[in-house]
Amino acid sequence: MRHLLHPRRDIETSPPRAPSFVADEQEARAIELETIGWTNKAHRVRTCAAPGPLHACRCKQRVCPLCALNTSERYAQRLLHRSSRMTDPMVVLVTCPSTGICRLDRAFSSFRRALVLLRRRKCFRSVTSGAGALEPRLSSDGMRWSLHAHLAVDRAGAELDNDAIADAWRKLTRGRGAWLVEQDDRLRSPQRFALYASKRDSWCPDPETMSVGALEQLFAGTKGRQLVIDWGQPHAQRASEQPIAGAGIASHRL
Ligand SMILES: [Zn+2]
Repeated sequence: MRHLLHPRRDIETSPPRAPSFVADEQEARAIELETIGWTNKAHRVRTCAAPGPLHACRCKQRVCPLCALNTSERYAQRLLHRSSRMTDPMVVLVTCPSTGICRLDRAFSSFRRALVLLRRRKCFRSVTSGAGALEPRLSSDGMRWSLHAHLAVDRAGAELDNDAIADAWRKLTRGRGAWLVEQDDRLRSPQRFALYASKRDSWCPDPETMSVGALEQLFAGTKGRQLVIDWGQPHAQRASEQPIAGAGIASHRL
């Protein structure tokens, strides 16, 4: 239970970046936001972390690289807390691509709705809890969003019929989505899984890495959307000792 007392020590963090690099990144994002026409957001990003009378003020916007990094760390802690308490966890990649570049918002709704329905299916009955995060990734042709989630699901000792679940998910997403069990052994560690599923560039790509048009669609499509997914109550008590089973696709860096 060590991680409960000192949660941050269980998460590997990247080394702190130089202040000038951070300032350059914030400025580049502010310019992108001005190009979109979001001048208020741009101003808040530009002045984020400026020293105030008592402490540095953060803008707390999802589009801000600095604040998104803090959010990512918070998500990682939340996912670690959940996934490390599962008795028999398994990591899956669950996809639900959008039908167009302007349809990200609708893809989020479809994903959430389909997941609620999947949880009621007989083939999913032995899954007692789940935790993970949604990730909107621009498709390679730039025409749609490859919306997907990395999820740890707790099987609680039961064998899952992954073919039946994959079939149910495909039907619930009108033939677009896929349910794939992850093969990457590195994701067996709850810490690795938490970092992998909560990475910042999922919803706040580095400045100058995406066209301004796509960025506008990304920010508009994720506005007000909850990215973390969790349901049910994990039961395990020996959290950090419990590895996560692996078996799908490993298309992201760790
Ligand atoms: Zn900020």
